[in-house]
Amino acid sequence: MSTSPSYDDPGVYRTLLESTKAIPWRIDWASMRFTYIGPQIETLLGWSQSSWQTVNDWAERIHEDDRQRTVDFCVAQSIAGVDHEADYRALTRDGELVWIRDVVHVKRHPDGSVDCLVGFMFDITERKIAEDKILQLQKELETLSYRDPLTGIANRRMFDRILEVEWSKARAVGEPLSLMMLDIDFFKQYNDSYGHPQGDLCLKQVAGLLDDTATRTRDLCARLGGEEFVVLLPGTNEEAAHTIAQRFARMLSRAAIAHRNSRVSDVLTVSIGLASIVPGAHDTPGAFIELADTRLYQGKTGGRNRIVGSGD
Ligand code: GH3
Ligand code: MG
Ligand code: MG
Repeated sequence: MSTSPSYDDPGVYRTLLESTKAIPWRIDWASMRFTYIGPQIETLLGWSQSSWQTVNDWAERIHEDDRQRTVDFCVAQSIAGVDHEADYRALTRDGELVWIRDVVHVKRHPDGSVDCLVGFMFDITERKIAEDKILQLQKELETLSYRDPLTGIANRRMFDRILEVEWSKARAVGEPLSLMMLDIDFFKQYNDSYGHPQGDLCLKQVAGLLDDTATRTRDLCARLGGEEFVVLLPGTNEEAAHTIAQRFARMLSRAAIAHRNSRVSDVLTVSIGLASIVPGAHDTPGAFIELADTRLYQGKTGGRNRIVGSGD
């Protein structure tokens, strides 16, 4: 077709706005009344489109524990003319709670006074549930049963639990998740050369370097057992994970832990398998771990002291 696109057809915008999951709305500042709210609001919260008349209807449908701070914050930001976001729990008509993220744009008159607020409400319930679980698990990590006694970092049990929630969060949000699995090269020979207690010190040193490498709050370093470690990197794509793995290899090489009986170097080295994913409906955490493990194994058979990702 040769017709040029029509950017000023309000019907197009309306169709778009009413077919997305995000719920658009507009509030007139002078009257504090809704002049528009998407019909999807009824599907999400149960309150009919026509029942959203004034800002009070909005405020009354916020959970009472969140109401005051949300209203105060939004009013203050709007008066200051600042675009803002607010997360709060909304009440459904059936008395259930839905986590909402309201993203608000303040539209002003030419003289600077506020004309209206326009925004979108997003249902962020799944994301919030996952985030709450992660925070709760991070607290549990403080307890001994989730720590590896030798190195003080997380143990396998903790890793399995965190992976499960990070996995569901990555699925809900559509963000990437990366996994770095590593195993010390010729560690048996290290023990044989320097003794088991020195081997233990070496494991502690490697754990410390890993902890220094993965620095974001949700990054998780764990000792899976023996001389095998794992780092879970939420919100991290393959390229970024590769950079982190390289940074770790560089730090380890600078630490220059002598290893006279390694067949690949005169200092301690590791082999690393990397896997990255945006989890889909048919993916499983088990297969994801296996992929990283397979690549680690490729690193071993390929000569050790290397990082193996999807492109290698
Ligand atoms: P590769 O390069 O193929 O990984 O060879 P490797 O020698 O590192 O692997 P292997 O699995 O043959 O040996 C692992 C060694 O790690 C054997 C075991 O004694 C040692 N090890 C496991 N846990 C500990 C520990 O807690 N402390 C010490 N000091 N050594 C440990
Ligand atoms: Mg090893
Ligand atoms: Mg091993």
